[in-house]
Order: sequence, then structure tokens, then C-alpha cells
Amino acid sequence: MSASGTPIGTSSGKPRILTGDTPTGSLHLGHWVGSVRRRVEIQPSHECYFLLANMHAFTTRTEDSASIRADTIEIVRDYLAMGIDPQQSAIVLQSEVPAIAELTFLFAMLLPFNRVMRNPTLKTEIELKGMGDKFAFGFPLYAVGQTADILAFRAVSVPVGEDQVPHLELTREVARRFNQVFCGVPTDIEDHEHEQHGGVFPVPVADVGRVGRLMGTDGKNKMSKSLNNAIAIADSAKDVQKKVNKIFTGRQSPTEPGDTSNALFQFVECFIPDAARVAELKDRYARGDNIGDGHIKAEVAEAINALLAPMRERRAQFEGPGSDQRIIDIIMDGTRRANRLCEETLLMAKAAAGLKFWPRQLQLG
Ligand code: ATP
Ligand code: MG
Repeated sequence: MSASGTPIGTSSGKPRILTGDTPTGSLHLGHWVGSVRRRVEIQPSHECYFLLANMHAFTTRTEDSASIRADTIEIVRDYLAMGIDPQQSAIVLQSEVPAIAELTFLFAMLLPFNRVMRNPTLKTEIELKGMGDKFAFGFPLYAVGQTADILAFRAVSVPVGEDQVPHLELTREVARRFNQVFCGVPTDIEDHEHEQHGGVFPVPVADVGRVGRLMGTDGKNKMSKSLNNAIAIADSAKDVQKKVNKIFTGRQSPTEPGDTSNALFQFVECFIPDAARVAELKDRYARGDNIGDGHIKAEVAEAINALLAPMRERRAQFEGPGSDQRIIDIIMDGTRRANRLCEETLLMAKAAAGLKFWPRQLQLG
């Protein structure tokens, strides 16, 4: 049973979802619109696991393990601020779920190396983060690891931003291939029927939020923890105002007809809740009807601050002395719930792959 008394595993009867975040910095508005808002909406009706992908953070921050640790805790503060409820949803520490690492090794055998390297999200990351050809072997391996993150939970749906869709496609391929190679599922079986035909893994679907890709304040790239173009959930009202003021549009004057497909207008559409006001701003901006970027930015900042104000209040309850330990306790509880499920999956997978020689007994003390 989970802390809330809900049975874990398939027995909860609720569709199961898995998604997560890499502790490479604080969570930002891109996470909110791309994934976390959806998680908060569905957590009462779904069995939810949210993974802190701390092993994956080592792909780019190997020499900074202290920051990975600090950000792991910080991300949980952000989760709690945004409304994730640890009674309903399990918050899980990847490095303490051994089944994920074991499945990664097995799944790496099912994927041609060139197939992994063709993943467009990996290519973009290599380029944007200036990794050249110096990246660790573990960098492409993280894409395989992500398939194990999802499949270890036998999740049916994964709420993610658009950039994660290629990873999901890879996951779907691994699930199909595992089921076909090791469970005898015929190749012409539809994705949603794999389990019925004896497959260990459901073939999961991506659940992309209404805004799959929020732009950063540079006006060019996806808002990203690693690119210094993010508005953090934990930013102060003043910082929000400053960062919104930086959003680059290239427009020169309030009478110049503006392009409403620019980054500033994505913010208008995402964060100003009044649809009539959004339409009015768009119309005046497109016509250059004496409306300056500065004016629009002030309205956007105000709307973002209205969204973040209750989050700041909730976050304050998890700050201060002793709060790190309270957060670790929350993660420990979620990880315990996850391990019951993931160990079950691992046993099923090992049995299917002919790797079960005796019952697993790893109680060490
Ligand atoms: P990093 O720069 O380290 O890659 P990130 O900001 O891209 O960090 P991730 O941990 O890679 O964040 O992503 C976590 C989740 O948030 C994923 O589902 C991802 O698709 C989603 N997400 C991240 N940034 C955005 C964005 N700008 N718009 C929409 N969704 C996003
Ligand atoms: Mg990313």
C-alpha cells in the first residue's frame, strides 16, 4: 500500500504514468506548461510516479555532484510548490531504484547504436550544450536509460514536453522489441494489445502538454535549465519582471506592426488568462497600434507573478531548518513504493529473457 492507503501496482486500477526531471537546475515555467501542470491535473485519477533523474544529471555535470544533490532536493521543493501531492503521487529517486539500472543494460542490447545516435533530441543537446565529440559514453546511454525509467514502471502514458517525444519513440521501440523477442508477441500485434498477447511491457504513449515547447527569454531556444534563459518557479516577483523585460523581439517602436508568433506573444498566450485581452493585445500589436513591447511585458510579468504567488507560498512551507530532511523523507517513501513495482517488473523481464536462475534475495542487512 502507498502512504495514502492506495494499493500500488496494477491493483490500484488507475492508469499508471511515469515522468520526471533531471536535476540540472531549478524547475522553470517551461516545466510548468510542458509537463507539471498536466501532472497536477491528473494526479487524483492516475497512479503517478515522478522520477528525479539524478543519474542522468551526471551526463553533463560529472564534476559537480554536490550541485546534482542540491538540485535534486530543490526540484522536490518546486514540485511541492506547484501542487504535486506526495500522498497521492510517488516522488522517486532514480539512483535508488536498482531495477532501472539493470533494465538499462538489457535494453541497450535491443537497440542498434546508430539508432540511439539518430535521436534528434540527443543531437540538439550535443549542439546546444557545446559537447562536440567530447561527451561521455554515458551521454547516449542516458537515452537508453530513459526507456528503462519508463518501462520499469510499466507506464501507459508519459506527460512530457515536445522535446521528449523522440525519447518516447525509442521507448516504444524497446517495448515492442522486448515483447517480440522475449515474450513471443507476434510482430503484427497493435501497440495497445501487447500485454494481452503476453508482452511484459505496455507500449506507452507521450502525453504532450498544451504548450509543448515554451521559448526561453533569449527569444530563440527552448526555455531550458542549462541555457540560462529560464524563469524559475522560485524566482522573486522582481526577478520575473527583470527576466520578462529581457525577452528579445527585435521590434523597434510601438507603431511598428509586430509579429505575434514571436516569443513574447507565446508568453502572452500562455500566461494572460483573459482570452479577450489576449485577442486585443494581438490585434493591436499586429497593427502597430501604439502598443510598446514594454507595456506588454509589464502585463505578462504581472500575469506570471499572479500564477507564481501561491506557489511561492506553498514553497515557503518547505524551506528553512530541517526542511531538507523532510524532503528526503518524502523521496524515501516514494522510492520505497516505486521499488516494489519496479522489482516486480524486473523479475518479469528477467524471467522472460531467460535470466531467472533462482529467486532474487538481495536483503543485505
Ligand atoms: P536541461 O537543460 O538540463 O535538459 P530542461 O530544462 O530541458 O533541462 P528536462 O529535465 O530535460 O528540463 O525536462 C523535464 C520535462 O520538462 C520534460 O518533459 C521536458 O519536455 C519538459 N520541458 C522542459 N523544458 C520545456 C519547455 N521549455 N517547454 C515545454 N516543456 C519543457
Ligand atoms: Mg532537457
